[in-house]
Amino acid sequence: MAKDIIDDRLIGALHLLTLTREGLSLDEHTERTVIQAGTINALLDGKYEGDITIGELLALGSDGIGTTQGLDGELIILDGAAFSARADGSVAVVTPETKTPFAVLTRFETTKAIDVKEMRFDNFLNHIDCISGNTPVVAIKARGAFKNLHLRSVEKQLPPYRPLIEIVADQTEWHFKETDGDLIGFQFPDTIAGVEVPGWHLHFISKDRLHGGHVISLDVVSAQIELSDCDQLHVELPSGSKLGEIGDGDRSAINAIEGR
Ligand SMILES: [Zn+2]
Repeated sequence: MAKDIIDDRLIGALHLLTLTREGLSLDEHTERTVIQAGTINALLDGKYEGDITIGELLALGSDGIGTTQGLDGELIILDGAAFSARADGSVAVVTPETKTPFAVLTRFETTKAIDVKEMRFDNFLNHIDCISGNTPVVAIKARGAFKNLHLRSVEKQLPPYRPLIEIVADQTEWHFKETDGDLIGFQFPDTIAGVEVPGWHLHFISKDRLHGGHVISLDVVSAQIELSDCDQLHVELPSGSKLGEIGDGDRSAINAIEGR
């Protein structure tokens, strides 16, 4: 196990460990732990091919988000099932053999649960910020009725790959007036920019599992929210890739790809 550890750092209250694919498969620490494949900086650079499969990740976590090989849609992992929201807004089941260049998931353990009603998107995020406290990383699941949904996804890419910011400029966006479904996502601290998306990053899937996407915004009609506090981030790096400088992420590029 020890020989597989590439890098082990403490960033504020967040313990960051980088591992090879083999090292991650032997990783036994799953409490309060977020498992991540790849980095946001690698994705920004157009590295859309990873070496780890969704099946391998599902052995380590139950709920999360990301994308699949070749940037083929917005990945939604919910209660151990993986879906991809394609550029036309439709949802497909993701097979365990599918690889991913960027995914983040956790073995979701509910540490706080609240019900919310009639909240605009910004108020909703502020409300969650208030109740989540000082935890370095927060995973969120919310199930209920949502309205004014503004979602997006991207087209599957073929090599030679263009940088993410160019692809997101061609992203497709769509709206739903009102629908039931599930939100899943994370809030990461600013200090982790370059490795992860700082702030909130949420994906949505409808209750009938027919529609979904990356959330640009939505308002809550009524929803049950569960939070899972995490303080460990274990990052799998494909062989030959480096973590790079932490905190050095290109904020304007990240904001552009997140639709902020
Ligand atoms: Zn996303």
